[in-house]
Amino acid sequence: MTNALPLPQADPRANYLSHREAIDQAIRRVLESGWYILGREVEEFEAEFARYVGVKFGIGVGSGTDALHLALRVLGVGPHDAVITVSNTAVATVAAIDLCGATPLLVDVDPVTFTMDPPRLEQAIASHRGSRLRAVIPVHLYGHPADMEAITWIARRHGLHLIEDCAQAHGASLAGRSTGTWGDLPAFSFYPTKNLGALGDGGAIVTDDPRLAEKARLLRQYGWRERYVSDDAGFNTRLDEIQAAILRVKLQSLNTENQRRRELARLYDTALAGARLTSPRSAANVQHVYHQYTVRAPDRDRLREFLLTNGVRTAVLYPVPIHQQPGYRDRVVIAKEGLERTEGLCREILSLPMFPELTDHQVHKVAELAVRCPPAER
Ligand SMILES: *Cc1c(COP(=O)(O)O)cnc(C)c1O
Repeated sequence: MTNALPLPQADPRANYLSHREAIDQAIRRVLESGWYILGREVEEFEAEFARYVGVKFGIGVGSGTDALHLALRVLGVGPHDAVITVSNTAVATVAAIDLCGATPLLVDVDPVTFTMDPPRLEQAIASHRGSRLRAVIPVHLYGHPADMEAITWIARRHGLHLIEDCAQAHGASLAGRSTGTWGDLPAFSFYPTKNLGALGDGGAIVTDDPRLAEKARLLRQYGWRERYVSDDAGFNTRLDEIQAAILRVKLQSLNTENQRRRELARLYDTALAGARLTSPRSAANVQHVYHQYTVRAPDRDRLREFLLTNGVRTAVLYPVPIHQQPGYRDRVVIAKEGLERTEGLCREILSLPMFPELTDHQVHKVAELAVRCPPAER
């Protein structure tokens, strides 16, 4: 690339700069208020975010990992239980299950959308009847919703709780219905590079159920209903006032920024014709929010190196599936039907630069390089 080298794959600083004045003002407002934990900003953000998603309650917590962990705890998941999810996800999805003392049971994904494959879910439930299956956590990977119509139906029929991992899918929808409205306790992350990102850690659980919302509020702060009196054994995982104030600013632009991501994806789709790779495809009834624009390239490592040499950073999300990671391989169970598709994907996926401040010109440059990348010598 010319000038500003290299081009980043994600750019949370650019997003801060595009909201700088409002964010600086929001931070100053909190600093001067003298109230830094669980105050007005968190309350307002919880209400605004719940309204945005289309549910009644939002509960701000310390991170996306904590949101998933707390959601499982609220539903009573514990030791001897098993929870079904996928292996091509942020380690946080699986870590949250492990933190409850439960066993993650990993199923394979759909080869086109890279999200939980409903037939594989059904098969895993049938072949693991001996386990105490309690919940299912589909992941809306890269901003593409999992097939929630099928997954919800399967989960309900088998009496399983449903938690959506919405960390990469703020504002996405399926069949006209937002991600975060399908599960019992959907979980969001506000890690700085997410579509809605704080300038530090943050997360949220959302729900329509007042009982679940209350339990989540208790568990996030020592099990307190009343200050200094624990009704329950709890945790400390709070969204802080400064992050909430920043998120309130950024929430106002989320739809515009998601729309920009979709525009950039369309540009990539067109400009990448002729490159030796497969562009992401989305299911027909889906509103994708392109947290990532992830292609499949048979010569992935070579393409990645070529782009880097020419000043373009890319990412591999995720290079090692959870069931092959040293810290987790002995703590998970692989569904009997196997994880071949997941393992195949990990060798081919590449996430190109994608963030709302990316310019059309930069997309064209990246695509041009991808088209020009010489094929491997055989
Ligand atoms: C980012 C992410 C998380 C974890 O969120 P943190 O806020 O980093 O704890 C969980 N699941 C997925 C799919 C993610 O992308």
